[in-house]
Amino acid sequence: MKKNIGVLAVQGAFAEHINTLKKLDINTIEIRKKSDLTENHIDGIILPGGESTVMGKLINELGMLNSLKKFIQDGLPVFGTCAGLILLAKKITNDDNVYIGTMDIEVKRNAYGRQLGSFHTNGQFAKLGQVPMTFIRAPYIENVSKNVDILAQIDNHIVAAKQNNMIVTSFHPELTSDLNIHKYFLDLI
Ligand code: GLN
Repeated sequence: MKKNIGVLAVQGAFAEHINTLKKLDINTIEIRKKSDLTENHIDGIILPGGESTVMGKLINELGMLNSLKKFIQDGLPVFGTCAGLILLAKKITNDDNVYIGTMDIEVKRNAYGRQLGSFHTNGQFAKLGQVPMTFIRAPYIENVSKNVDILAQIDNHIVAAKQNNMIVTSFHPELTSDLNIHKYFLDLI
């Protein structure tokens, strides 16, 4: 059976994730409203990059915030990239907002500054070896609890982590042709 992956599609780089998943022969479901989430069988969900303030506001206004939180707390595999990572964090160190707030990480938004905030590099990711990493006004993780595994660090900053059913990256694997990080997520399911 093909896996069904929901991609939060209210704002941001959701189309790029959908393209990547299609290359991996996965069924994708755009999550635009609450019923997309509750009336489909979903094996996992991706929270894309974009603007966390806008996405957070929209999922709240669309009445999806509590269902998303509940599904994730109940074990639905979730992959948050960039703004998606911010949505999952229990604490944003330079912002008072908390959105889904299910992951024991403390995150700094726009951590590389606004002007020089975009760059590309390669870095070690878990046991996968070197992967390409594209950062766009990215956050990084300043602190993790003991129950969080660090998957990647660049210049001593944590840029990818995993806690149970949740994985997050500060960077955008959907903007490169490398499929390994998406495969890593799909292997969790
Ligand atoms: N700077 C954005 C935020 O704070 C995240 C950027 C991104 O997702 N590429 O929400």
